[in-house]
Amino acid sequence: MNPGLVIGLVLLLWLAANGLIVLAYRRTLGAIWREPVLRRPVLVLESDDWGVGPPAQAAALHDIAEVLGRHRDADARAPVMSLALVLALPDGQAIRRTGQYRRLLLDDRRFADVLGALRSGIAQGVFAPQLHGLEHFWPDTLMTSSDPDVKAWLRQDQPAATEQLPAHLQSRWVDASVLPSRPLDPAAIAAAATAEVQTYRRILSVPPKVVVPPTFVWTLEVERAWAASGVECVVTPGWRFTRRDAQGLPGGDEGPIVNADRSGAIGYLARCDYFEPARGRDAAYALAALERAVAQGRPCVLENHRDNFINDAAVRQRSLDELDRLLRDASARHPDLRFMSSLELHRLLRDRSADWLVASRWRRLPALWQRFRRAGRPCRLAWLTGAALLGAAVARLAKAGGQAPAFAG
Ligand SMILES: [Zn+2]
Repeated sequence: MNPGLVIGLVLLLWLAANGLIVLAYRRTLGAIWREPVLRRPVLVLESDDWGVGPPAQAAALHDIAEVLGRHRDADARAPVMSLALVLALPDGQAIRRTGQYRRLLLDDRRFADVLGALRSGIAQGVFAPQLHGLEHFWPDTLMTSSDPDVKAWLRQDQPAATEQLPAHLQSRWVDASVLPSRPLDPAAIAAAATAEVQTYRRILSVPPKVVVPPTFVWTLEVERAWAASGVECVVTPGWRFTRRDAQGLPGGDEGPIVNADRSGAIGYLARCDYFEPARGRDAAYALAALERAVAQGRPCVLENHRDNFINDAAVRQRSLDELDRLLRDASARHPDLRFMSSLELHRLLRDRSADWLVASRWRRLPALWQRFRRAGRPCRLAWLTGAALLGAAVARLAKAGGQAPAFAG
């Protein structure tokens, strides 16, 4: 056979194989491509479930604010912890008396110390409040539950901790009284979203702009209701889970969602990893996540929960020490690191700020290559075809040169 023909056929086969990989993994590759590349390292700490609940939160919040206040970034700004707030718990006594659902709000005198600690950290600039939910559950779901533990939980004297509820019942935006869960009535969703935004605004004196959906189970319908009330940003784990499945696990996922994705008036953030010292995800773990995020040109948005700081005294002290270590080592390793709130990150992504984002396609390549390297199967297949070798070489060239060749923009 003609050697030219053989080379042509091999080349054609090679192109076809790589074309198939692109076709099969277009959603993953599209997500890698469209997510903006940051010009400098950004660290965002998000901690959930604060607000109503155990009084120990007040001292914990003061301690966290003190640790945050010790550090500064390259702009001489202190780190900010974005706190997702829950605004209400069941009023057990009133529920026992009336047989109807009644709530205790965050501005009830029982939570005065917690609210005071929140306000003091906000005034100091180290806390940025965001909405988690009016409740961390759907009240009707709990009220119709036949589970004796849930009934008792609703009717106890002392304000309860929602972490004690079965996991699927901690989802707010589905009816999980049966599994798989059922969607909620659209009118009920609209009314509840409006009510939680109004309650937040009354108690915090500012409207919520960022929402962290409880347990990351929510729907586009819920988002639209938030947007109608002025919410700008929804925090995600990279997916939207729309229901609880037959086992009670989050399911019906829609995505992938990456930073700066949009749907109507809503912009999204995607958490990339965890800082949960109580569960072994300590400063060293979070710093490794930061290294990956920096290499990939992504903001390092870390998930955390109040339970690291409010239960056992030894766990609480260790969490505070790990927080201190994370902030100190992150700044030491990355002198150009910036701390910011989720809302600030959302707005600079939304505005495509030239000061923050890499515009040149050529200069984006090293970060895109690092994302692809961690994409799993498409990357392994690309090594098999040899396309990854080409990708690695181009990424190295872009990183070393910085200057774009004539064909790139
Ligand atoms: Zn939560």
